[in-house]
Amino acid sequence: MGEKKRAVAIDGPSGAGKSTLARAVARKLGFRYVDTGAIYRSVGYFAFSKGVAPSDWEAVMKLLPEISLEISYDGDGLQHMSINGRDVTREIRLPEISMYASRVSAIPAVRDFLMETQRSMARTHDVIMDGRDIGTVVLPGADVKIFLTATPEDRAMRRYLELKERGTPQDYNKLLTEIRERDYNDSHRSAAPLRPAEDAVVLDTTGNTFEQSFQLLLRTIEERL
Ligand code: C5P
Repeated sequence: MGEKKRAVAIDGPSGAGKSTLARAVARKLGFRYVDTGAIYRSVGYFAFSKGVAPSDWEAVMKLLPEISLEISYDGDGLQHMSINGRDVTREIRLPEISMYASRVSAIPAVRDFLMETQRSMARTHDVIMDGRDIGTVVLPGADVKIFLTATPEDRAMRRYLELKERGTPQDYNKLLTEIRERDYNDSHRSAAPLRPAEDAVVLDTTGNTFEQSFQLLLRTIEERL
């Protein structure tokens, strides 16, 4: 106790494989994996479940005091999200929640609301935290910063295969359009836009197998820790 915890920040656009890779590397290193997208998704889901449009900033802001978020981990290190005592881990993955999350995350009050939740995780555990602004805003003092990216086509194809395997297939072109739209929203918002930190290592996983990306990420982190 009391010793300084180590932190790895992994940022990048949607579908670059951040969460799968970060979780695998965290397990290998014995770090806690923190998926901050799931935290934004939970707020997006809450707005959705209350019938509040994510573009209505004022209405979304009014919801915040009603939200009590809880993050827990099961034996496999899988992150579970609860809102006001209800487990929403599955619901936040519904395709329509992606756009809700992207929209509500542009609201500065939402980002402020979630800041302490994210930072407190890094004070109590060695973490690998993935998101959009971890290296730039949430943990600017992180020991290692990675910006993980791939072409939109590559990311849309990965999402396509993932959804097909899950039994909820979606049209590839629709997924590509959504990825481009989310990229645009995430990198053009004024609050904490998606961009690599100046001291981030940029890793492009286009065309890589999971194993290749895993080894690349693990090596990059181990060299710097
Ligand atoms: O990573 P994931 O795709 O689950 O994130 C959902 C949305 O939450 C993203 O499109 C992004 O707009 C937002 N987000 C964010 N900052 C983070 C993590 C996610 O703005 N640190």
